[in-house]
Amino acid sequence: MYKTHTCGELRASHIGQTVTLAGWVNTRRDHGGLIFLDLRDRWGITQVVANPEIAPAAHEAAAKTRNEFVLRAEGVVRPRLPGKENPKLATGEIELEVRALEILNPAKTLPFLIHEDEVTDEQVRLKYRYLDLRRERMQRNLMLRHKVVKFMRDYLDAQGFIEVETPILFKTPPEGARDYLVPSRVHPGCFYALPQSPQQLKQLLMVAGVERYFQIARCFRDEDQRGDRQPEFTQLDLEMAYVHRDDVLATVERLYTAMLPVVAPRKRLLSSPWPRLTYREAVARYGTDKPDLRFGIELYDVGDILTKSEFKVFRGALDSGGAVKCIVAPGCAGYTRKEVDDLTTFAKEQGAKGLATLALTAEGVKGTAQKFVSSEEVAALSERTGAKEGDLFLFVADALAIANKVLGALRPWFRDKLDLADQDVLAFAWVVDFPMFAWDADNKRWDAEHHPFTMPKLEDLDKFETDPGAILSDAYDMVCNGYEMASGSIRIHRRDIQHKIFELLGVSEHDIQHKFGHMLEAFEYGAPPHGGMAPGIDRLVMLLADEPNIREVIAFPKNQQAMDVMAGAPSPAEPKQLAELHIRVVEEKQ
Ligand code: ASP
Repeated sequence: MYKTHTCGELRASHIGQTVTLAGWVNTRRDHGGLIFLDLRDRWGITQVVANPEIAPAAHEAAAKTRNEFVLRAEGVVRPRLPGKENPKLATGEIELEVRALEILNPAKTLPFLIHEDEVTDEQVRLKYRYLDLRRERMQRNLMLRHKVVKFMRDYLDAQGFIEVETPILFKTPPEGARDYLVPSRVHPGCFYALPQSPQQLKQLLMVAGVERYFQIARCFRDEDQRGDRQPEFTQLDLEMAYVHRDDVLATVERLYTAMLPVVAPRKRLLSSPWPRLTYREAVARYGTDKPDLRFGIELYDVGDILTKSEFKVFRGALDSGGAVKCIVAPGCAGYTRKEVDDLTTFAKEQGAKGLATLALTAEGVKGTAQKFVSSEEVAALSERTGAKEGDLFLFVADALAIANKVLGALRPWFRDKLDLADQDVLAFAWVVDFPMFAWDADNKRWDAEHHPFTMPKLEDLDKFETDPGAILSDAYDMVCNGYEMASGSIRIHRRDIQHKIFELLGVSEHDIQHKFGHMLEAFEYGAPPHGGMAPGIDRLVMLLADEPNIREVIAFPKNQQAMDVMAGAPSPAEPKQLAELHIRVVEEKQ
């Protein structure tokens, strides 16, 4: 080994010992005579002092070093001079008086500083990711991620789960996103698909008798990139046989409840056990199926209070079967015209035609709806919502789905503006009873809301012919602080129901056999009832690390154009490779 100790290890108890350290020069200070080097490795920083009188050769070598040179330093541990201790460093009581210093490798001037968290353009950080990862923040994130995954593995192992690897080269799975395809050389014109998730395989493992499966699984989805999306991401994929919904939820809730104090002791759970909301309730109260429960500002349907309203905006919505919903922004009655205009612009971006307001000021009721709302109506609105003087009502009158969407988007807007949510609080919750199907108006067909292997509620089976939109499923999501953290479901294990679902989704008999024949066949050989879920690991670590996006917690992420700017991927293939793969590239027409 190049070192006897790490750079974070030496304490007063080591004083007098001869040791060897190795690492990077974090900073270097030349005090004319003495040279001080802060030597850094993954574990910390130790001050190394080169004294020309004690070790002239080592001092000469130290004089040649620059930031990020790689060194090996042998010397004697000694106490720092009185008053020179550094309480901020774990090794701050001591320093290494160097006797021999070897430069293992010099370093060019770096594109950015490692030892300071200076703001650096993300593209530059990604191009030099191996340098970016040397920074303390990124080292912390890597470590946290490691601890999370290790905890999951150990915990699930103790609960009788086994980790099974499933193939990366597989077949189009029905998760609803676009696939990454891999051409086959030996089967011209045929392609593997990279798994969007190991969904089918984990279900087949249940048929195979594994009973409790998990995998730290890489998933690939060719979707448009957003802050919290990556072309490849990692899930804790798990599946259990002989379980009902609540067994799966309890297993995962217990895992997270045990894990959080260990991996992120600073974070607090808002409530334990985690609250459960039905999908309907979540959307009605928060305007979204992934609500942030750390603060109030709930949505209220107030159409019944305003039935007699002459206000065109309210009337129009109510008469055409829509809704009037509102939220109350606490303490915002004094918003200026400009602030209300900004809010309206935001609401319009979310699809609203406009925003109506009522401000409960000390001088009376103000706002765009003021002229049209009677004092009785204001009293009834305040009674329902708990609004008081100083508060601002914001109304959206529109189709119910739009009112929910717009007000649901305004909640986090106020959360951030009014600083309503504590970053250290984790508001985990379960959302259950999702609709089984969603109507795709563009393509005039039903889509599976979760995926087609999800079990519909058995009591809803008779609605298949009459009202598919009303069928609920045994699907569930885990949400936290406004993010979807996991989804899962109890699965269909009966061939007849599975076949019926494919039919309703408009999958042709040919495609059913061709794409899913293996699943249907497996269900005929004694498939046990089963269910599972797949919590996202990137998003969890992002939340625990207080990072703004998942790229910060992935060692080598793609940028927002799905590119690896360090290695330059994707890149054109050699003509020979393309020929072997039976592929001809068609020039994009400009
Ligand atoms: N495979 C699903 C997904 O990736 C999760 C599950 O149903 O377990 O969303």
